Amino acid sequence: MSAIPLLPEVKAFLAREHGNYIDNTSVAGSGVIFEVINPATGESVATFNAASQQQAQHALDSAHKAFMTWREMPTLQRGSLLLKLADKLAEKREELAQIETLCSGKTIQLSRLLELDQSVTFLRYFAGWAGKINGETLDVSLPSFAGEKYTAFTRRQPVGVVVAIVPWNFSIMIAVWKIAAALVCGCSVVVKPSEYTPLTLLRLAELATECGFPPGVINVVNGAGSELGPVLIGHEACAKVSFTGSVATGNAVNRTATAQGKRVTLELGGKNAALFLNDLSVTEMVNGIMEAGYLNQGQICAAAECFWLPADKIDAVLAELKVRLNSTVIGSPLDETTAMGPLANLAQLEKITQLVATARDEGDEIICGGEVLSGGGYFYQPTAIRVASVDSTLMKEETFGPVGSFIAYEDAEQALQCINASPYGLAASVWSRNISLALRFSERLEAGIVWVNMHTFLDPAVPFGGSKGSGIGREFGSAFIEDYTELKSIMIRY
Ligand code: NAD
Repeated sequence: MSAIPLLPEVKAFLAREHGNYIDNTSVAGSGVIFEVINPATGESVATFNAASQQQAQHALDSAHKAFMTWREMPTLQRGSLLLKLADKLAEKREELAQIETLCSGKTIQLSRLLELDQSVTFLRYFAGWAGKINGETLDVSLPSFAGEKYTAFTRRQPVGVVVAIVPWNFSIMIAVWKIAAALVCGCSVVVKPSEYTPLTLLRLAELATECGFPPGVINVVNGAGSELGPVLIGHEACAKVSFTGSVATGNAVNRTATAQGKRVTLELGGKNAALFLNDLSVTEMVNGIMEAGYLNQGQICAAAECFWLPADKIDAVLAELKVRLNSTVIGSPLDETTAMGPLANLAQLEKITQLVATARDEGDEIICGGEVLSGGGYFYQPTAIRVASVDSTLMKEETFGPVGSFIAYEDAEQALQCINASPYGLAASVWSRNISLALRFSERLEAGIVWVNMHTFLDPAVPFGGSKGSGIGREFGSAFIEDYTELKSIMIRY
């Protein structure tokens, strides 16, 4: 097989001048030009003109003006616009998937199935909340002295302008989580994409305009996060920051935001674990490891990086895993038969190379992989490493790549204690045919989401977010309502 041809509209889009999208208008930036690099080739596919600080402020002003009318729009009308945007993304699925693959190196199949199809699903899910975000009527106990009565009710009111700061690993889908949730609640949004993947969200904002979203409701500001982030967060109109990204940046964002009294949701990284109980076959464990650790080159925040295996099976599991990883079809992400594309950017490649070098220095055993692939682009071998001990760096530091760390346990109870000793807690999984036992482990694993006999699957109905150092707040389910609305009480004497 070979790479699919790019659609004419993709070529035309890439050739355009890119910048920012404010008030339903394309806005050229400050003159600071960034290259967008195709990680499969290392070559530039487009450039974008980053926003100035004044333009970032203009985006907030525009979002604030839009908020005043958007919040008053009948809720079902807001919901129907989200449904229209979902239909539009479904219609433009291939165009957006190709742009995403060119910018991020995600295989075209994953761009279609996860970035686009999941974005459509999430938009429809959140649209379904329109008309259902309600308060309650309350029973008031105040005494009546002259026949007067009291009642009270609560309302869920939109918090205002949301600054959504998103990473490069799922540039459309993660932004859609935030945009759809904020908009259905009546908030407006300024999105700050990653410097590596700025294009698909510019296109999404244009498509939203075509669907009839009023000016200023969805704005996209591109540029360096360290420069624009504090400006966006510090603007008086920013009521809330919804951040997804690394722990270090998230903590910096949290400090900036909370110092100014802004609400914050943080979806951060961590070091997720998968615990395989001893009743499974070697092949079942290998299947689970492949699902949990290597999708999208491991560049999924919820992916497992630490694998706990029974001591009497670890050798057999690693032998079979080695065969599977070595036969992974690695190649152009635009080839529909490719299972693994490049890492998303050079910084990512350098970080992983460094972490694997550290693993070697610390005496961890490289079972397979561990090398950069030659031939251009940012390709890295799928890698399995048997760590020397729980103290190995690879048991603590997120690689965010196709690098699994494997460790044997004699006693599953002790493995659980070690997993829970992590300062992070985004996601974990437990695998066993004994559902009763697996559920007991799931109750005690310290993570925002625990999967049983599965890993990484997200559903809009199921709340998602990190515990401990992996985040603050939850997205999806009904939990998002807390994030984007203020609870107001109204009391009445009559
Ligand atoms: P990152 O933290 O480097 O960047 C994320 C975003 O923050 C980018 O848009 C960046 O421009 C911006 N940014 C950078 N400095 C900033 C600052 N000072 N103020 C405000 N914004 C700033 O993360 P990344 O490398 O893009 O993404 C990878 C990380 O994201 C991994 O650690 C991964 O675990 C995490 N992640 C978490 C989730 C989740 O839901 N928990 C999902 C995806 C990725």
